[in-house]
Amino acid sequence: MKFNKVLDNCKIYEAGKPIELVVREYGVDENDIIKLASNENPYGTSPLVIKKIQESAQNMFVYPDDSMYELKEALANKFAVQSDNIIIGAGSDQILDFVIKAKCDENSKILMSKTTFAMYEIYGRQTGCQILKTEDNEHNLSQFETMYKEHGADIIFLCLPNNPLGECLDKNDVYEFLKKVDKDTLVVVDGAYQEYATFKDSKKAINPADLIEHFPNAIYLGTFSKAYALGGMRTGYGIGQTNIIKTMYKLRPPFNITTLSLAASIEALRDETFVNNCIKLNFVEMKRYEEYAKSKGFSYIESYTNFITLKFDNKYISSDVAQNLLQRGVIVRDLTGYGVNAIRVTIGTNAQNTKVFKVLDEVLEDLEK
Ligand SMILES: *Cc1c(COP(=O)(O)O)cnc(C)c1O
Repeated sequence: MKFNKVLDNCKIYEAGKPIELVVREYGVDENDIIKLASNENPYGTSPLVIKKIQESAQNMFVYPDDSMYELKEALANKFAVQSDNIIIGAGSDQILDFVIKAKCDENSKILMSKTTFAMYEIYGRQTGCQILKTEDNEHNLSQFETMYKEHGADIIFLCLPNNPLGECLDKNDVYEFLKKVDKDTLVVVDGAYQEYATFKDSKKAINPADLIEHFPNAIYLGTFSKAYALGGMRTGYGIGQTNIIKTMYKLRPPFNITTLSLAASIEALRDETFVNNCIKLNFVEMKRYEEYAKSKGFSYIESYTNFITLKFDNKYISSDVAQNLLQRGVIVRDLTGYGVNAIRVTIGTNAQNTKVFKVLDEVLEDLEK
């Protein structure tokens, strides 16, 4: 059977391995498995949010509020923008899909960093557009500028901070770059980990209201899946000027997030104490990974997120390390597929991380034999 030919160049997204798979394939006890592969919040969902979800379960027989009035109001308040500057998606993944479909066709070009969030390329290829990547793995704005001058682009993706590497550009440098970008190029600032970056270093903080005021051709993306601990609820959002947001609305399926997702996300925004505490603990625990890497003599990328990328250079092969960890019940993300000899480890709880170091010690020792 023949299919849409643009799909010939499309890859299927590979999500972090689920716990069930490790139980099935390696017979590890479910309770002993540590999943640090998808940058989920290891502290679980806020108890207040869980309570809200339980209460909302009464209303499952009616469709959700398709205007998403309350969530948009709450986000508008938080970010000091208007409700009509906001669009909600089933994860910010769905916003990425809207963004690309709103702007691109098979003659379009998308510019991104060499090693960045896989979905930019996947959605880009679905519309048949050309993918341009800078040479360095980490974001390098002078390379972005050179390539933009040479090829132009319909969309530029900046992942700030970047998944899967963890690095983050300074806001001032980003703004200097944006001044050189044509008004008709859409710039997507993916802020999936901005809550972490902002906490660690105020120079990294991107304020969505300020961004879209200075650069009306920019759109900011946020998610409830990471710091807000709601990956299972699939809530993300885009913040942009109304002409961009209105166009994206044409692509939005009705009721694209659920009543439970709406209730949970609204409550998660209210429970600031929970989020702030998780972020603080994240960086306390991240220090331990940095020290561990130093003690073992391999390098890591300074991270502004809830994960850390450990680079093995010529010492170990990352796919071997990841596979051996998996067999022992520790799920991490191997970055070989991205062309990097490194693993990405989501920062877990104190107890989880202690176990990761112990298991990693064993694995590295085995691999040296
Ligand atoms: C996790 C992530 C997203 C989207 O997550 P959703 O769960 O779809 O909201 C977007 N961009 C980056 C860089 C991410 O890491």
